[in-house]
Amino acid sequence: LQQLCLAMQKRTSSTEKKMSSIMRDSIRKFLRQNTFLIQLEIKYFSFPGELLMRMLQMLVLPLIVSSLVTGMSSLDSKASGKMGVRAVVYYIVTTFIAVFIGILIVVIIKPGRGNRDSPLSSSGNVELVQAADAFLDLIRNMFPPNLVEACFKQYKTLYSKRVYQRNIMVAVNTTKFSNSSESAIPANVTRLLLQNILETVEEIVPTAGSSSGVNALGLVQKGQALSEFFDCLNKAIMRLVAVIIWYAPVGILFLIAGKIVEMKDLAEVGGQLGMYTISVIVGLLIHGLIVLPLLYFLFTRRNPYMFIGGLLQALITALGTSSSSATLPVTFRCLEENNGVDKRVTRFVLPVGATINMDGTALYEAVAAIFIAQVNDMDLNFGQILTISITATAASIGAAGIPQAGLVTMVIVLTSVGLPTEDITLIIAVDWFLDRLRTTTNVLGDSLGAGIVEHLSRKELQSKDVEVGNSITEE
Ligand code: ASP
Repeated sequence: LQQLCLAMQKRTSSTEKKMSSIMRDSIRKFLRQNTFLIQLEIKYFSFPGELLMRMLQMLVLPLIVSSLVTGMSSLDSKASGKMGVRAVVYYIVTTFIAVFIGILIVVIIKPGRGNRDSPLSSSGNVELVQAADAFLDLIRNMFPPNLVEACFKQYKTLYSKRVYQRNIMVAVNTTKFSNSSESAIPANVTRLLLQNILETVEEIVPTAGSSSGVNALGLVQKGQALSEFFDCLNKAIMRLVAVIIWYAPVGILFLIAGKIVEMKDLAEVGGQLGMYTISVIVGLLIHGLIVLPLLYFLFTRRNPYMFIGGLLQALITALGTSSSSATLPVTFRCLEENNGVDKRVTRFVLPVGATINMDGTALYEAVAAIFIAQVNDMDLNFGQILTISITATAASIGAAGIPQAGLVTMVIVLTSVGLPTEDITLIIAVDWFLDRLRTTTNVLGDSLGAGIVEHLSRKELQSKDVEVGNSITEE
């Protein structure tokens, strides 16, 4: 309406002009007085989307555990070992490629250079924190003092956006005071990372049941009952997923629409931040639509875009939820039902992939770190760029599949090359948007990975089919 009034004002008749300016003023007044009401409506507007998020989150933990147990128990230890190695090699190689693309693009575009007076000028106090400290902390975080607490707390607290934003700010502020003699990463960041890594451990623990060591202890018969229990649980959850999938388009529509209504953040973004956003988007597009499909084609000789077509629902869910973990139930269904990927493969590799394989996050962390260096007028040498690529990979592995987790693990990358961690605040304004895009890339990477691993493991899968028949395949 404001635009309409503006257009009317340009017309010649003075009465029209006067009328339109009165109208414009009253609209402005109304908007000013009712900001609260508008905010309130946005909250209600995104309610159906919030419901979808809650439903997906509700299923994630039992789905991960039951999928892994049934997946593993349907494979012998040799087959699962080979499959695991293939998956891990794929994860590491593709993550490094993503980081490389990110670095190349941000070095070419240079979004943080120039325009000294821009509102993005940094705090300027570059801290020298030993990269070794950051690495030691990363390893230290892999051994949490309380396994159970770490597993469950993450989902309980981190999905709450307010708590999450506060964690980021506290993390950033605390890091200001770190120095090389103390731990480079503050305790609260450590706790967050630790929870993320714990999630990975939690996924790996049930797989121990299939190792020969356990078999030798005579636990196989007893384990049978447990395996059947998880199999039933998995089937029940997948039934629920089928129901949720019917509701998903509505929920996603509202999730995205709710965000678009409050999109003023993005509309106002220009200059350096705009160029930074474009750099991340270009990197993600190259990785997701060219590099990964090419890899898929090279290994399988099948059309990767047909495969991606089958994933559309999962990709849109990732875009709507900003969470690879919450998207996991939909990813399972798309891969199994639309693309016909063997269930033994999806159940084995997808839950781990959703947690540790995050190409989009790694690419984004590398771009963001170099962007912050550029804003600080800091020239990075080859060693520092190498450190960024290694820490960005590690940080993406440490990030959980939840909204904006990558923003927290960014601390590791920044401290490793002595960049001011409080400069994370420079990119917070656009993070909600980039988070959606990088999550979509993460899900795409996991899914294409499952397709490649299935193709490479077809021999083991076939021999296993002939040997015992397979309940999962039949199902
Ligand atoms: N939201 C991303 C995911 O769930 C993680 C990140 O923040 O980069 O995959």
